[in-house]
Amino acid sequence: MHIVITPFEPLQADAKTTRVQAEVPIYLGPPSVEVRIVPAVPSPPEAYNVRRRQWDAARLIRWIVDHHRDRTALNVALHPGDLYVPGFNFVFGLAEPACETCIIGLARLQSSDPERWHHRVLTEVLHEIGHLMGLEHCATPSCVMFFSNTIRETDAKGPAFCPKCQHLVRAYRQGRPPSRRP
Ligand SMILES: [Zn+2]
Ligand SMILES: [Zn+2]
Repeated sequence: MHIVITPFEPLQADAKTTRVQAEVPIYLGPPSVEVRIVPAVPSPPEAYNVRRRQWDAARLIRWIVDHHRDRTALNVALHPGDLYVPGFNFVFGLAEPACETCIIGLARLQSSDPERWHHRVLTEVLHEIGHLMGLEHCATPSCVMFFSNTIRETDAKGPAFCPKCQHLVRAYRQGRPPSRRP
């Protein structure tokens, strides 16, 4: 299993995103997962909702799947904006397990404290990767798979899976055939 991180412009592979890249594997257990950051892509303008001033998370995922998906990997898109799905005021992220693609919006994770920013982004990235591995929301508030409605709940949990969810991650990783490159 490996993971591809696709930043939307103007995000890029910089000190902040490469730190996320480096730390994601720590939480997914052995054998170590390879995480790559690919060059940034532009946002499709049609995914922007002018009235809401937000980005349609499902459309962004669809666009990644159609144009940039690595079919041998779990695909994680990082978007600088504020994301929504119809029926919700906002979402921190969204995952489409059937397409092995997820997205995280960074606008609501901002912090003047770089450590807090890192903690939030790493937590939301691992939450969505958890969904790509088939995990559902978890009732344990400290578990990364706990559903956070507010940034405070994101801050209160962290990037680590609880023992029950760790077990599911292991099962997913053992059941999945090794990825092949074309
Ligand atoms: Zn979730
Ligand atoms: Zn859990």
